[in-house]
Amino acid sequence: MFETQYNEEMEAEVRRLEGKRRAEEAGHPEWDNACALCGCQLTATEADRCNSCR
Ligand SMILES: [Zn+2]
Repeated sequence: MFETQYNEEMEAEVRRLEGKRRAEEAGHPEWDNACALCGCQLTATEADRCNSCR
């Protein structure tokens, strides 16, 4: 359904923005995502922690 797809796109956008915010907080606004705990760079936007902090 259209609404389901819309919600998924919204959630993906929110995750992308959260990743950007974490990257900026880690001091690297050029990154797309950063680990919420140690601040290392993450390449995937759906995760909020790196492998060692998970
Ligand atoms: Zn980490």
